[in-house]
Amino acid sequence: MDLTQNIAAVREKIAAAARAAGRPPEEITLCAATKVQSDATIRAAIAAGIQVCGENRVQELTAHLNADAYSGAQVHFIGHLQTNKLKQVVGKVALIQSVDSLHLLEAIQKQAEKAGCVQDVLLEVNVAAEASKSGCLPEEVPVLAASARSLTHIRLRGLMAIPPVSAGPGDNRIYFHTMYQLFIDMKRKMKDNQEDIDCLSMGMSGDYEDAIAEGATLVRVGTALFGLRPPA
Ligand SMILES: *Cc1c(COP(=O)(O)O)cnc(C)c1O
Repeated sequence: MDLTQNIAAVREKIAAAARAAGRPPEEITLCAATKVQSDATIRAAIAAGIQVCGENRVQELTAHLNADAYSGAQVHFIGHLQTNKLKQVVGKVALIQSVDSLHLLEAIQKQAEKAGCVQDVLLEVNVAAEASKSGCLPEEVPVLAASARSLTHIRLRGLMAIPPVSAGPGDNRIYFHTMYQLFIDMKRKMKDNQEDIDCLSMGMSGDYEDAIAEGATLVRVGTALFGLRPPA
């Protein structure tokens, strides 16, 4: 695996997809999905230009934070989050991308208040309404967004989605399009602070170019940067 080469190849594809959609490439953030990677690999990725890491297990996040492995980059939490582990996440990551219930919003508010910070969050949407997945349903987004706005220690930044594993190119465009509509609608309803709503996180190794074509501002890429992960 040549990390530097992989990063360059992914960045090139991101830029090409952005240009094809008439969007400036700088509008899209590459978030490296670093699950199962070592401290050394994370440091190497950051040395090679990665500016945002996405972690989806609290245990791995804590271990890498303790080792100072993310130094020089931001870290986002992108996995399923239980309220009993919030202390290890709130105030320690720049963005929690995976908030999907009022219960979780309120628990984050409480912990952020305790930690004396304002926590940036995205709402995670189960856009294909898959039984196996976390995330709120598309129709729940407006109510959750309104709740997030009423919480003083939470700053809502946008939406995240993990659509079905795509069987082929173009498969998930319909879901990415639905997400973009929800994102635009959320922005419109923000009134006073529309500029806060700046992050639409969607697209992984198999479909990030389609996600960019439909309006993604952040893509979460693991395999295309680090190679195949060992089976869970
Ligand atoms: C692992 C992971 C990714 C990256 O997946 P790849 O297919 O390896 O690019 C993106 N988002 C989330 C939430 C993940 O857990």
